[in-house]
Amino acid sequence: MEELKDANNTITYEMKPSLKAKRIRITVFKDQVKVTFPQGMNLTKVREFVELKKEWILKTMEKYKTLSAQLPARRYTEGEEYFFCGHKYVLRVKTYDGPNPLLRIMERDFWVCLPESMPKENEPAVIKEVLAAWYKEQARLIYKERLDFYSKIMGLEYHQLKIKNQRTRWGSCSAKGNINLNWRVIMAPYEVIDYLIIHELAHLKYMNHSREFWKLVESHLPAYLRWKKWLKENGKYLVL
Ligand SMILES: [Zn+2]
Repeated sequence: MEELKDANNTITYEMKPSLKAKRIRITVFKDQVKVTFPQGMNLTKVREFVELKKEWILKTMEKYKTLSAQLPARRYTEGEEYFFCGHKYVLRVKTYDGPNPLLRIMERDFWVCLPESMPKENEPAVIKEVLAAWYKEQARLIYKERLDFYSKIMGLEYHQLKIKNQRTRWGSCSAKGNINLNWRVIMAPYEVIDYLIIHELAHLKYMNHSREFWKLVESHLPAYLRWKKWLKENGKYLVL
């Protein structure tokens, strides 16, 4: 695997020499980047070409992230797709002889295990409840870890983290220094989560959206506009 870097992103890509290829070809599918090139071609030349196409690669990857967030209405049944930190997971349902419903993550599957004794008609409601509880718990853990990380880097101390469930608000920062974050953002890519956290931490210094405020955000996340836009466009899909 080769790596391509800019201020915010590290893209890993696969180099594939080919006997049939006549020129260098880059294919992007979701977060996978493959570079095919004629066998025997100078590798430095290939890497230079990929470097030139960096912006295009990033844009294409981003488009997949946006597209994949467009989900149909949920029925909470086997085979449905869910997002967690920007990755897609498939819902699997099985019964077991335990007393309580639970969720386990295995590779790219969400396994919901339901008690055998539970009536079938209750399944969708119970699955939704299990998913919501699990997402909130993950949100608390991951937000806390990211908040503490950026709090140190930015030299800004917050008082308390609160996990919220609001329809249209992603985050807020109170005058007391409490940071409130919407658990549903845990479905979004990591960069979006970081953007939100940096945004709210920056409010500890500037209680407004002034030029200084955005400068501070930018200094910790140079591509913040990209992720701000992502949230604006895809926020509506971050639902259970
Ligand atoms: Zn704000």
